[in-house]
Amino acid sequence: MKQGIHPEYKEVEVSCACGNKFTTKSTKDEIRLDVCSECHPFFTGSVKSIERGGRAEKFKQKYGL
Ligand SMILES: [Zn+2]
Repeated sequence: MKQGIHPEYKEVEVSCACGNKFTTKSTKDEIRLDVCSECHPFFTGSVKSIERGGRAEKFKQKYGL
């Protein structure tokens, strides 16, 4: 890769509105996100529904419902 032809990719810190931070390669100095893989509904929604289901099952077993 020759200097001046391609933008310089460097390690930058990505900070999300949820407080999550991670690094990625980018030409920018810093990146700010509103959603990331940690707080995006697509990811958190599936995890929470599984967790909720598990708790409901335990509740049912405990009280013999
Ligand atoms: Zn986030």
